[in-house]
Amino acid sequence: MSDVNEVMEQQITEVVNAPGRDEMPVENRPDADTNTGKTEHLSWGARSDVGLVRGHNEDSFLVRAPLFAVCDGMGGHAAGEVASRIAVETIAERAPEHADEILLGAAVEAANEAVLEGSLSGKGKPGMGCTATCVYVENNLMSVAHVGDSRVYLLHGGILVRITHDHSYVEELVDAGEITADEARVHPSRSIITRALGSDPDMYADHFTLDVSTGDRIIICSDGLSSMVPDKQIEELAVSSVTPQAAADTLVSAALTAGGHDNVTVLVVDVVEDGLGEIHRAERRKSIIAWAGILLLALVIAGSVVAILAKNSWYVANNNGTVGVFRGINDELFGMPLYDLVESSSVKVSDLPVAVQQQLDSGIGVANHDEAVQTVERYRDQIDTDKTRAAQAAEAAKGSAGANQRTDNPDPANKPTPSAESADSTPSEAAATGQQAAERATESARAEANAGTVGKEGE
Ligand code: MN
Repeated sequence: MSDVNEVMEQQITEVVNAPGRDEMPVENRPDADTNTGKTEHLSWGARSDVGLVRGHNEDSFLVRAPLFAVCDGMGGHAAGEVASRIAVETIAERAPEHADEILLGAAVEAANEAVLEGSLSGKGKPGMGCTATCVYVENNLMSVAHVGDSRVYLLHGGILVRITHDHSYVEELVDAGEITADEARVHPSRSIITRALGSDPDMYADHFTLDVSTGDRIIICSDGLSSMVPDKQIEELAVSSVTPQAAADTLVSAALTAGGHDNVTVLVVDVVEDGLGEIHRAERRKSIIAWAGILLLALVIAGSVVAILAKNSWYVANNNGTVGVFRGINDELFGMPLYDLVESSSVKVSDLPVAVQQQLDSGIGVANHDEAVQTVERYRDQIDTDKTRAAQAAEAAKGSAGANQRTDNPDPANKPTPSAESADSTPSEAAATGQQAAERATESARAEANAGTVGKEGE
């Protein structure tokens, strides 16, 4: 990637902008490219600069939010930039519509084939190649596909972490523990790349997916930044820059200030909204709808059960003083009665034993309509029997009273009660005794009837 002629061409510039001097401005630089923008979820800024040594910018970058890529071309004039352009175009065409790392890796592999094809077809030069580092950010997920020594850094909570592994000779030395990362950055063999697009048809891309969250800053760059500026300084500049474009500009400026030996491309993407709040709200909405559905279903089932019960339930109860036959449940739901009066009768509740009267107030359940009718008829018979017994008792009392006492003082005012009204023309004392006997008889009859009803209910 180094070219003696280009170094000569840029000699004067390099001297003027030697390291240690004031920060290099990035505005109005030749052969520079920028891109700023934002979506609902992301905000980004990009800058690519030829640097202070090279004659051409062989880097290409892709901004098609939420897809971003940096490709660093190699192969010299009219080759490196062709390779990197073919690569970003192919990645743009082939990238998935979701944070799918496998498909993103496949897009990079397709770009490899396209670069190889470009070499063979004369589009560019044989031996041209490039790196490819791309990310796809979807809500809180970032998929990465990567080949070569361009990098992705993630700034999370003020800490910068490099999340890609360079496919380079010096990275292998670092991995083997032979040199440090800082030594790698200035190592004479730092430009030797062990995996790139454009040489091996079987080349494969590294790919993985990470969680990102609101406030995270993603930096994608070519080695023109990482070989010129130590990670610690990248972190400081990334933390202190307000906007992503300011961060990209500041980082490019730092690379130029450090010497700008290579083309430098920096793409900064801020996660403005990771969509998790939205996702949680949607989940909450879904669960509320699900619970409302379950509740509605439960109400429908309960309603159906009540309706079935009401349709098949019968009882007899006090219907404004007489015994009525009801279908349903002796209750109300939301103010609506759950019963219907099916039949009324002439059987007076007040003629029945007190215990039965109390039961009729709350309703006495029966199996069906026939049993309800039978129950009413039984009450009617019971009352008739009671009255007959009372009358007989009164008669008997009258008879015994007549045997013991004279009957010379008839008094219509002292006639017995209606329950013993068949025993007319009774003397007052005898009537009183007869009435007591009749009452006793009625009471015992009621007790019997009561016992009978309780027994019936217990069935
Ligand atoms: Mn480079």
